[in-house]
Amino acid sequence: TVAVVLFTRDLRLRDNPALRAALASADAVVPLFVRDDAIAATGYAVPNRQAFLADCLTDLDRQLRERGGRLVVRSGDVVEQVCSVLHETGATDVHMAADVSAYAQAREDRLRRALAAGRRRLHVHDRSVTVVAPGDITPAGKDHMAVFTPYFRRWATAPPREVLAAPRRVHVPAGVRSEPVPSREDVRGAAPGVGRGGESAGRARLAAWTRSGLDAYAERHDDLAADATSRLSAHLHFGTLSPVELVARARRRGGLGAEAFVRQLAWRDFHHQVLAARPAASRADYRPRGDRWRTEEQAGEEIEAWQQGRTGYPVVDAAMRQLLHEGWMHNRGRLLAASFLTKTCYVDWRVGARHFLSLLVDGDVANNQLNWQWTAGTGTDTRPNRVLNPLAQAARYDPDGAYVRRWVPELEGIAGRAVHAPWKLHGTGRAAPGYPAPVVGLADGLTRFRRARGG
Ligand code: FAD
Repeated sequence: TVAVVLFTRDLRLRDNPALRAALASADAVVPLFVRDDAIAATGYAVPNRQAFLADCLTDLDRQLRERGGRLVVRSGDVVEQVCSVLHETGATDVHMAADVSAYAQAREDRLRRALAAGRRRLHVHDRSVTVVAPGDITPAGKDHMAVFTPYFRRWATAPPREVLAAPRRVHVPAGVRSEPVPSREDVRGAAPGVGRGGESAGRARLAAWTRSGLDAYAERHDDLAADATSRLSAHLHFGTLSPVELVARARRRGGLGAEAFVRQLAWRDFHHQVLAARPAASRADYRPRGDRWRTEEQAGEEIEAWQQGRTGYPVVDAAMRQLLHEGWMHNRGRLLAASFLTKTCYVDWRVGARHFLSLLVDGDVANNQLNWQWTAGTGTDTRPNRVLNPLAQAARYDPDGAYVRRWVPELEGIAGRAVHAPWKLHGTGRAAPGYPAPVVGLADGLTRFRRARGG
Protein backbone atom coordinates (compact mmCIF):
# COMPACT_ATOMS: atom_id res chain seq x y z
CA THR A 1 0.00 0.00 0.00
CA VAL A 2 1.02 3.59 -0.64
CA ALA A 3 0.13 6.71 1.35
CA VAL A 4 0.78 10.36 0.55
CA VAL A 5 2.06 12.87 3.11
CA LEU A 6 1.15 16.34 1.98
CA PHE A 7 3.68 18.65 3.67
CA THR A 8 2.43 22.19 4.29
CA ARG A 9 3.61 24.07 7.38
CA ASP A 10 5.23 20.99 8.92
CA LEU A 11 8.47 20.79 6.94
CA ARG A 12 10.28 18.43 9.29
CA LEU A 13 10.93 14.75 9.90
CA ARG A 14 11.05 14.92 13.71
CA ASP A 15 7.82 15.03 15.65
CA ASN A 16 5.66 15.04 12.53
CA PRO A 17 2.33 13.29 13.25
CA ALA A 18 1.22 13.18 9.58
CA LEU A 19 4.45 11.55 8.47
CA ARG A 20 4.43 9.14 11.40
CA ALA A 21 0.85 8.03 10.69
CA ALA A 22 1.50 7.59 6.97
CA LEU A 23 4.58 5.46 7.59
CA ALA A 24 2.76 3.35 10.15
CA SER A 25 -0.13 2.63 7.80
CA ALA A 26 1.54 1.94 4.43
CA ASP A 27 4.54 0.14 2.90
CA ALA A 28 5.59 3.16 0.88
CA VAL A 29 5.04 6.88 1.28
CA VAL A 30 5.09 9.80 -1.16
CA PRO A 31 6.43 12.89 0.69
CA LEU A 32 4.77 15.60 -1.38
CA PHE A 33 5.10 19.37 -1.40
CA VAL A 34 2.90 21.37 -3.77
CA ARG A 35 3.93 24.88 -4.78
CA ASP A 36 0.40 26.09 -4.64
CA ASP A 37 -0.77 28.50 -7.36
CA ALA A 38 -3.51 29.82 -5.10
CA ILE A 39 -0.97 30.97 -2.49
CA ALA A 40 1.16 32.63 -5.17
CA ALA A 41 -1.93 34.42 -6.50
CA THR A 42 -2.63 36.06 -3.14
CA GLY A 43 0.77 37.76 -3.16
CA TYR A 44 1.72 35.85 -0.03
CA ALA A 45 4.73 34.15 -1.63
CA VAL A 46 7.15 37.07 -1.17
CA PRO A 47 10.93 36.74 -1.71
CA ASN A 48 11.94 36.68 1.97
CA ARG A 49 9.66 33.75 2.74
CA GLN A 50 10.36 32.04 -0.59
CA ALA A 51 14.10 32.10 0.16
CA PHE A 52 13.57 30.53 3.57
CA LEU A 53 11.07 28.02 2.14
CA ALA A 54 13.56 26.95 -0.55
CA ASP A 55 16.06 26.15 2.22
CA CYS A 56 13.37 24.18 4.04
CA LEU A 57 12.58 22.06 0.98
CA THR A 58 16.25 21.50 0.13
CA ASP A 59 16.90 20.31 3.67
CA LEU A 60 13.80 18.12 3.78
CA ASP A 61 14.82 16.45 0.52
CA ARG A 62 18.36 15.91 1.80
CA GLN A 63 17.14 14.34 5.03
CA LEU A 64 14.69 12.10 3.17
CA ARG A 65 17.49 10.94 0.84
CA GLU A 66 19.63 10.02 3.84
CA ARG A 67 16.78 7.69 4.77
CA GLY A 68 16.37 6.12 1.36
CA GLY A 69 13.61 8.44 0.13
CA ARG A 70 13.27 11.86 -1.48
CA LEU A 71 10.90 14.80 -1.65
CA VAL A 72 8.38 15.01 -4.49
CA VAL A 73 7.68 18.59 -5.57
CA ARG A 74 4.84 19.64 -7.84
CA SER A 75 3.36 23.01 -8.82
CA GLY A 76 -0.21 24.00 -9.59
CA ASP A 77 -3.55 23.48 -7.92
CA VAL A 78 -2.99 21.53 -4.73
CA VAL A 79 -6.06 19.31 -5.11
CA GLU A 80 -5.26 18.46 -8.72
CA GLN A 81 -1.66 17.65 -7.85
CA VAL A 82 -2.61 15.42 -4.93
CA CYS A 83 -5.15 13.58 -7.09
CA SER A 84 -2.60 13.14 -9.84
CA VAL A 85 -0.10 11.58 -7.38
CA LEU A 86 -2.85 9.27 -6.07
CA HIS A 87 -3.67 8.24 -9.59
CA GLU A 88 -0.04 7.60 -10.54
CA THR A 89 0.81 5.59 -7.43
CA GLY A 90 -2.45 3.88 -6.56
CA ALA A 91 -2.30 5.47 -3.10
CA THR A 92 -5.54 5.55 -1.15
CA ASP A 93 -4.74 7.71 1.86
CA VAL A 94 -3.48 11.25 2.28
CA HIS A 95 -2.08 12.58 5.58
CA MET A 96 -1.58 16.23 6.37
CA ALA A 97 -1.34 18.67 9.30
CA ALA A 98 -4.41 20.62 10.39
CA ASP A 99 -4.14 24.38 9.88
CA VAL A 100 -6.29 27.37 10.68
CA SER A 101 -6.53 30.11 8.06
CA ALA A 102 -9.56 30.53 5.80
CA TYR A 103 -7.39 29.33 2.94
CA ALA A 104 -6.17 26.26 4.85
CA GLN A 105 -9.70 25.36 5.90
CA ALA A 106 -10.97 25.69 2.32
CA ARG A 107 -8.04 23.59 1.07
CA GLU A 108 -8.91 20.86 3.54
CA ASP A 109 -12.58 20.90 2.50
CA ARG A 110 -11.73 20.71 -1.19
CA LEU A 111 -9.29 17.86 -0.63
CA ARG A 112 -11.77 15.97 1.50
CA ARG A 113 -14.48 16.25 -1.16
CA ALA A 114 -12.19 15.33 -4.04
CA LEU A 115 -10.83 12.31 -2.19
CA ALA A 116 -14.22 11.09 -1.01
CA ALA A 117 -15.45 11.20 -4.61
CA GLY A 118 -12.70 8.71 -5.51
CA ARG A 119 -13.23 6.58 -2.39
CA ARG A 120 -9.99 7.75 -0.87
CA ARG A 121 -9.37 9.13 2.60
CA LEU A 122 -7.94 12.34 3.99
CA HIS A 123 -6.41 12.18 7.50
CA VAL A 124 -5.87 15.55 9.12
CA HIS A 125 -3.52 15.58 12.13
CA ASP A 126 -3.81 18.24 14.77
CA ARG A 127 -1.26 19.18 17.44
CA SER A 128 1.35 19.53 14.72
CA VAL A 129 1.12 23.20 13.72
CA THR A 130 -0.04 24.07 17.25
CA VAL A 131 0.58 22.55 20.69
CA VAL A 132 -3.09 22.34 21.64
CA ALA A 133 -5.67 21.87 18.89
CA PRO A 134 -7.89 24.89 18.18
CA GLY A 135 -11.28 24.18 19.70
CA ASP A 136 -9.87 21.94 22.45
CA ILE A 137 -10.04 24.76 24.99
CA THR A 138 -13.36 26.56 24.85
CA PRO A 139 -15.72 28.22 27.31
CA ALA A 140 -19.09 26.48 27.63
CA GLY A 141 -21.20 27.04 24.54
CA LYS A 142 -18.51 28.98 22.63
CA ASP A 143 -16.09 27.99 19.88
CA HIS A 144 -12.94 29.79 21.05
CA MET A 145 -11.39 31.77 23.88
CA ALA A 146 -11.30 35.54 23.44
CA VAL A 147 -9.04 36.41 26.41
CA PHE A 148 -5.49 35.13 26.75
CA THR A 149 -5.08 34.73 30.52
CA PRO A 150 -7.89 32.23 31.09
CA TYR A 151 -6.89 30.49 27.87
CA PHE A 152 -3.33 30.16 29.14
CA ARG A 153 -4.44 28.78 32.50
CA ARG A 154 -6.15 25.88 30.75
CA TRP A 155 -3.53 25.53 28.01
CA ALA A 156 -0.76 25.12 30.59
CA THR A 157 -2.48 22.10 32.15
CA ALA A 158 -3.53 20.36 28.91
CA PRO A 159 -1.98 16.85 28.78
CA PRO A 160 0.98 16.96 26.36
CA ARG A 161 1.23 14.60 23.43
CA GLU A 162 4.30 12.41 23.08
CA VAL A 163 7.19 13.86 21.02
CA LEU A 164 7.76 11.63 17.98
CA ALA A 165 11.21 10.55 16.75
CA ALA A 166 12.25 10.99 13.13
CA PRO A 167 11.76 7.89 10.96
CA ARG A 168 14.87 5.80 10.19
CA ARG A 169 13.81 4.76 6.67
CA VAL A 170 11.37 6.27 4.22
CA HIS A 171 10.51 4.13 1.25
CA VAL A 172 9.20 6.16 -1.70
CA PRO A 173 7.69 4.25 -4.66
CA ALA A 174 9.82 4.40 -7.81
CA GLY A 175 8.85 6.47 -10.80
CA VAL A 176 6.91 9.30 -9.13
CA ARG A 177 7.48 12.45 -11.15
CA SER A 178 9.00 15.44 -9.34
CA GLU A 179 10.08 18.90 -10.33
CA PRO A 180 13.53 19.98 -9.17
CA VAL A 181 13.55 20.91 -5.50
CA PRO A 182 13.70 24.73 -5.34
CA SER A 183 16.93 26.18 -4.10
CA ARG A 184 17.60 29.52 -2.47
CA GLU A 185 19.70 30.66 -5.42
CA ASP A 186 16.56 30.60 -7.58
CA VAL A 187 14.90 33.27 -5.43
CA ARG A 188 15.51 36.89 -6.36
CA GLY A 189 15.00 39.96 -4.20
CA ALA A 190 15.23 38.54 -0.67
CA ALA A 191 16.59 40.87 2.03
CA PRO A 192 20.28 40.39 2.84
CA GLY A 193 19.70 39.34 6.45
CA VAL A 194 17.17 36.55 5.90
CA GLY A 195 18.30 33.61 8.04
CA ARG A 196 18.78 30.05 6.92
CA GLY A 197 15.71 27.84 6.70
CA GLY A 198 15.27 24.10 7.10
CA GLU A 199 14.99 21.62 9.93
CA SER A 200 18.76 21.20 10.31
CA ALA A 201 19.29 24.95 10.64
CA GLY A 202 16.32 25.13 13.02
CA ARG A 203 17.76 22.43 15.25
CA ALA A 204 21.15 24.13 15.32
CA ARG A 205 19.47 27.39 16.33
CA LEU A 206 17.36 25.58 18.95
CA ALA A 207 20.43 23.92 20.46
CA ALA A 208 22.32 27.22 20.66
CA TRP A 209 19.30 29.00 22.11
CA THR A 210 18.70 26.32 24.75
CA ARG A 211 22.36 26.51 25.76
CA SER A 212 22.81 30.24 25.89
CA GLY A 213 19.52 32.17 25.74
CA LEU A 214 16.61 30.36 27.31
CA ASP A 215 17.51 30.70 30.99
CA ALA A 216 17.76 34.50 30.78
CA TYR A 217 14.71 34.92 28.53
CA ALA A 218 12.39 36.22 31.26
CA GLU A 219 14.63 39.17 32.14
CA ARG A 220 16.01 39.94 28.70
CA HIS A 221 13.35 39.26 26.08
CA ASP A 222 12.09 42.85 26.02
CA ASP A 223 15.54 44.44 25.74
CA LEU A 224 15.73 45.64 22.14
CA ALA A 225 19.52 45.83 21.89
CA ALA A 226 20.19 42.53 23.67
CA ASP A 227 18.58 40.52 20.88
CA ALA A 228 17.89 37.87 23.50
CA THR A 229 14.82 36.16 22.03
CA SER A 230 14.93 32.77 20.35
CA ARG A 231 14.53 33.90 16.73
CA LEU A 232 12.74 30.61 16.14
CA SER A 233 9.59 32.23 14.74
CA ALA A 234 10.26 31.45 11.07
CA HIS A 235 11.06 27.84 11.98
CA LEU A 236 7.77 27.68 13.84
CA HIS A 237 5.95 29.28 10.93
CA PHE A 238 7.25 26.74 8.41
CA GLY A 239 7.14 23.91 10.93
CA THR A 240 10.82 23.04 10.63
CA LEU A 241 10.61 22.85 14.42
CA SER A 242 7.65 21.37 16.25
CA PRO A 243 6.00 23.61 18.86
CA VAL A 244 5.09 20.47 20.83
CA GLU A 245 8.76 19.52 21.04
CA LEU A 246 9.78 23.08 21.98
CA VAL A 247 7.35 23.12 24.89
CA ALA A 248 8.47 19.66 26.04
CA ARG A 249 12.14 20.68 25.96
CA ALA A 250 11.54 23.97 27.74
CA ARG A 251 9.50 22.27 30.45
CA ARG A 252 12.23 19.70 30.94
CA ARG A 253 14.75 22.49 31.35
CA GLY A 254 12.51 24.38 33.82
CA GLY A 255 13.12 27.77 35.41
CA LEU A 256 11.73 31.25 34.89
CA GLY A 257 13.21 31.68 31.41
CA ALA A 258 11.68 28.45 30.17
CA GLU A 259 8.32 29.34 31.73
CA ALA A 260 8.25 32.74 30.03
CA PHE A 261 9.20 31.17 26.71
CA VAL A 262 6.45 28.55 26.97
CA ARG A 263 3.98 31.35 27.67
CA GLN A 264 4.96 33.02 24.35
CA LEU A 265 4.32 29.73 22.56
CA ALA A 266 0.89 29.74 24.17
CA TRP A 267 0.25 33.17 22.62
CA ARG A 268 0.93 31.57 19.27
CA ASP A 269 -1.65 28.86 19.95
CA PHE A 270 -4.06 31.47 21.28
CA HIS A 271 -4.02 33.47 18.05
CA HIS A 272 -4.32 30.27 16.02
CA GLN A 273 -7.45 29.21 17.88
CA VAL A 274 -9.00 32.67 17.39
CA LEU A 275 -8.32 32.52 13.65
CA ALA A 276 -9.56 28.92 13.36
CA ALA A 277 -12.92 29.99 14.78
CA ARG A 278 -13.00 33.44 13.09
CA PRO A 279 -11.12 33.10 9.80
CA ALA A 280 -12.51 36.47 8.67
CA ALA A 281 -10.43 38.14 11.41
CA SER A 282 -7.53 38.07 8.98
CA ARG A 283 -9.29 40.97 7.23
CA ALA A 284 -12.20 42.25 9.30
CA ASP A 285 -12.09 43.81 12.79
CA TYR A 286 -12.50 41.11 15.41
CA ARG A 287 -14.06 43.70 17.71
CA PRO A 288 -15.12 46.74 15.68
CA ARG A 289 -14.60 50.03 17.55
CA GLY A 290 -16.25 52.31 15.03
CA ASP A 291 -12.90 53.46 13.66
CA ARG A 292 -12.78 55.70 10.63
CA TRP A 293 -9.12 55.18 9.96
CA ARG A 294 -7.23 57.73 7.92
CA THR A 295 -6.94 56.46 4.39
CA GLU A 296 -3.80 55.91 2.37
CA GLU A 297 -4.59 59.17 0.56
CA GLN A 298 -4.90 61.12 3.81
CA ALA A 299 -1.86 59.66 5.50
CA GLY A 300 0.32 58.74 2.51
CA GLU A 301 3.35 60.68 3.68
CA GLU A 302 3.27 59.16 7.16
CA ILE A 303 2.76 55.63 5.83
CA GLU A 304 5.69 55.98 3.47
CA ALA A 305 7.92 57.41 6.21
CA TRP A 306 6.91 54.55 8.50
CA GLN A 307 7.63 51.89 5.87
CA GLN A 308 11.05 53.34 5.10
CA GLY A 309 12.06 53.89 8.72
CA ARG A 310 12.06 57.68 8.38
CA THR A 311 9.35 58.81 10.80
CA GLY A 312 11.79 60.91 12.81
CA TYR A 313 11.19 58.73 15.90
CA PRO A 314 14.46 56.82 16.16
CA VAL A 315 13.19 53.74 17.96
CA VAL A 316 10.33 53.30 15.45
CA ASP A 317 12.74 53.81 12.57
CA ALA A 318 15.28 51.35 13.97
CA ALA A 319 12.60 48.68 14.20
CA MET A 320 11.30 49.36 10.68
CA ARG A 321 14.81 49.25 9.25
CA GLN A 322 15.54 45.99 11.03
CA LEU A 323 12.49 44.59 9.24
CA LEU A 324 13.73 45.86 5.86
CA HIS A 325 17.18 44.41 6.41
CA GLU A 326 16.43 41.09 8.12
CA GLY A 327 12.83 40.23 7.34
CA TRP A 328 12.47 39.97 11.12
CA MET A 329 11.77 42.46 13.88
CA HIS A 330 12.05 42.23 17.65
CA ASN A 331 8.65 41.75 19.31
CA ARG A 332 8.97 45.00 21.28
CA GLY A 333 9.77 46.76 17.98
CA ARG A 334 6.69 45.22 16.36
CA LEU A 335 4.53 46.43 19.22
CA LEU A 336 5.75 49.99 19.22
CA ALA A 337 5.94 50.30 15.42
CA ALA A 338 2.38 48.96 15.06
CA SER A 339 1.08 51.19 17.84
CA PHE A 340 2.73 54.17 16.16
CA LEU A 341 1.05 53.48 12.82
CA THR A 342 -2.41 52.64 14.14
CA LYS A 343 -2.72 54.94 17.12
CA THR A 344 -0.34 57.85 16.62
CA CYS A 345 -0.89 58.08 12.83
CA TYR A 346 -4.37 56.55 13.08
CA VAL A 347 -3.87 54.44 9.97
CA ASP A 348 -5.83 51.23 9.40
CA TRP A 349 -4.08 48.18 10.88
CA ARG A 350 -4.55 46.36 7.56
CA VAL A 351 -2.11 48.78 5.89
CA GLY A 352 0.55 47.90 8.45
CA ALA A 353 -0.24 44.20 8.50
CA ARG A 354 0.15 44.07 4.71
CA HIS A 355 3.54 45.76 4.87
CA PHE A 356 4.72 43.37 7.59
CA LEU A 357 3.52 40.36 5.60
CA SER A 358 5.41 41.57 2.55
CA LEU A 359 8.69 41.28 4.48
CA LEU A 360 8.47 39.06 7.57
CA VAL A 361 10.04 35.65 7.10
CA ASP A 362 7.82 34.48 9.96
CA GLY A 363 4.86 36.33 8.36
CA ASP A 364 1.89 34.35 9.50
CA VAL A 365 -1.81 34.99 9.00
CA ALA A 366 -2.75 34.10 12.58
CA ASN A 367 0.13 35.77 14.41
CA ASN A 368 0.48 38.79 12.20
CA GLN A 369 -3.13 39.78 11.65
CA LEU A 370 -4.20 39.10 15.23
CA ASN A 371 -1.21 40.83 16.77
CA TRP A 372 -1.95 43.81 14.55
CA GLN A 373 -5.56 43.74 15.69
CA TRP A 374 -4.40 43.39 19.29
CA THR A 375 -2.20 46.49 18.92
CA ALA A 376 -4.88 48.45 17.07
CA GLY A 377 -7.38 47.66 19.81
CA THR A 378 -9.75 45.88 17.43
CA GLY A 379 -8.60 42.44 18.60
CA THR A 380 -8.32 40.62 21.89
CA ASP A 381 -6.47 43.24 23.96
CA THR A 382 -8.46 43.91 27.11
CA ARG A 383 -7.09 47.49 27.11
CA PRO A 384 -7.84 48.42 23.51
CA ASN A 385 -7.24 52.16 23.87
CA ARG A 386 -3.73 52.06 25.32
CA VAL A 387 -1.21 53.97 23.22
CA LEU A 388 2.50 53.16 23.40
CA ASN A 389 4.54 56.34 23.55
CA PRO A 390 7.68 55.73 21.45
CA LEU A 391 9.83 57.91 23.70
CA ALA A 392 8.76 56.13 26.87
CA GLN A 393 9.17 52.77 25.12
CA ALA A 394 12.65 53.76 23.97
CA ALA A 395 13.68 54.88 27.47
CA ARG A 396 12.50 51.60 28.92
CA TYR A 397 13.54 49.03 26.31
CA ASP A 398 16.57 50.69 24.71
CA PRO A 399 17.81 52.76 27.65
CA ASP A 400 21.28 53.37 26.28
CA GLY A 401 20.18 53.81 22.64
CA ALA A 402 22.30 50.92 21.34
CA TYR A 403 19.46 49.44 19.26
CA VAL A 404 18.87 52.77 17.54
CA ARG A 405 22.55 53.30 16.76
CA ARG A 406 22.75 49.77 15.31
CA TRP A 407 19.97 50.39 12.79
CA VAL A 408 19.99 54.14 12.14
CA PRO A 409 23.50 55.04 10.97
CA GLU A 410 22.65 58.77 10.68
CA LEU A 411 22.43 58.76 14.49
CA GLU A 412 25.41 56.60 15.37
CA GLY A 413 27.45 59.61 16.50
CA ILE A 414 24.98 60.48 19.28
CA ALA A 415 25.93 58.78 22.51
CA GLY A 416 23.56 57.48 25.17
CA ARG A 417 19.88 58.04 25.40
CA ALA A 418 19.98 61.47 23.71
CA VAL A 419 19.77 59.47 20.49
CA HIS A 420 16.04 58.93 21.09
CA ALA A 421 15.13 62.61 20.62
CA PRO A 422 17.56 64.07 18.10
CA TRP A 423 15.35 67.12 17.51
CA LYS A 424 16.34 68.34 20.99
CA LEU A 425 19.94 68.61 19.80
CA HIS A 426 19.29 71.28 17.19
CA GLY A 427 21.57 74.22 17.79
CA THR A 428 23.93 72.16 19.94
CA GLY A 429 26.17 71.20 17.05
CA ARG A 430 25.37 67.52 17.68
CA ALA A 431 22.29 67.28 15.47
CA ALA A 432 22.20 64.50 12.88
CA PRO A 433 22.19 65.75 9.30
CA GLY A 434 20.06 63.65 6.96
CA TYR A 435 17.80 62.37 9.73
CA PRO A 436 14.21 63.59 9.34
CA ALA A 437 12.19 65.70 11.76
CA PRO A 438 9.18 63.90 13.37
CA VAL A 439 6.51 63.27 10.74
CA VAL A 440 3.72 63.74 13.30
CA GLY A 441 3.50 65.23 16.80
CA LEU A 442 2.85 62.69 19.55
CA ALA A 443 0.38 64.96 21.34
CA ASP A 444 -1.54 65.62 18.11
CA GLY A 445 -1.69 61.91 17.41
CA LEU A 446 -2.95 61.16 20.90
CA THR A 447 -5.66 63.81 20.73
CA ARG A 448 -6.87 62.53 17.37
CA PHE A 449 -6.95 58.94 18.59
CA ARG A 450 -8.78 59.75 21.83
CA ARG A 451 -11.36 61.75 19.93
CA ALA A 452 -11.82 58.93 17.41
CA ARG A 453 -12.36 56.34 20.13
CA GLY A 454 -14.64 58.62 22.07
CA GLY A 455 -12.25 58.86 25.03
P1 FAD B 1 10.47 34.64 21.07
O1 FAD B 1 10.33 35.80 21.98
O2 FAD B 1 11.67 33.80 21.21
O3 FAD B 1 9.16 33.77 21.27
C1 FAD B 1 9.11 32.37 20.95
C2 FAD B 1 8.00 32.08 19.99
O4 FAD B 1 6.75 32.36 20.59
C3 FAD B 1 8.04 32.91 18.73
O5 FAD B 1 8.92 32.37 17.80
C4 FAD B 1 6.59 32.87 18.29
O6 FAD B 1 6.30 31.70 17.60
C5 FAD B 1 5.85 32.84 19.61
N1 FAD B 1 5.41 34.20 19.97
C6 FAD B 1 6.09 35.11 20.67
N2 FAD B 1 5.34 36.23 20.83
C7 FAD B 1 4.19 36.01 20.20
C8 FAD B 1 3.00 36.77 20.01
N3 FAD B 1 2.85 38.00 20.52
N4 FAD B 1 2.01 36.23 19.29
C9 FAD B 1 2.14 35.00 18.78
N5 FAD B 1 3.21 34.23 18.93
C10 FAD B 1 4.23 34.73 19.63
N6 FAD B 1 4.86 36.39 15.07
C11 FAD B 1 4.94 35.54 14.02
O7 FAD B 1 5.36 34.39 14.20
N7 FAD B 1 4.53 35.91 12.78
C12 FAD B 1 4.06 37.17 12.52
O8 FAD B 1 3.68 37.45 11.37
C13 FAD B 1 3.98 38.09 13.59
N8 FAD B 1 3.54 39.37 13.39
C14 FAD B 1 3.46 40.24 14.45
C15 FAD B 1 2.95 41.52 14.24
C16 FAD B 1 2.83 42.41 15.30
C17 FAD B 1 2.26 43.79 15.06
C18 FAD B 1 3.25 42.01 16.59
C19 FAD B 1 3.11 42.95 17.75
C20 FAD B 1 3.74 40.74 16.81
C21 FAD B 1 3.85 39.83 15.76
N9 FAD B 1 4.35 38.52 15.95
C22 FAD B 1 4.41 37.66 14.89
C23 FAD B 1 4.66 38.01 17.30
C24 FAD B 1 6.11 38.16 17.78
O9 FAD B 1 6.53 39.49 17.61
C25 FAD B 1 7.07 37.25 17.06
O10 FAD B 1 6.60 35.91 17.11
C26 FAD B 1 8.47 37.26 17.71
O11 FAD B 1 8.98 38.56 17.71
C27 FAD B 1 9.39 36.33 16.95
O12 FAD B 1 10.69 36.37 17.46
P2 FAD B 1 11.28 35.18 18.31
O13 FAD B 1 11.09 33.89 17.60
O14 FAD B 1 12.66 35.54 18.71
O15 FAD B 1 10.31 35.20 19.59
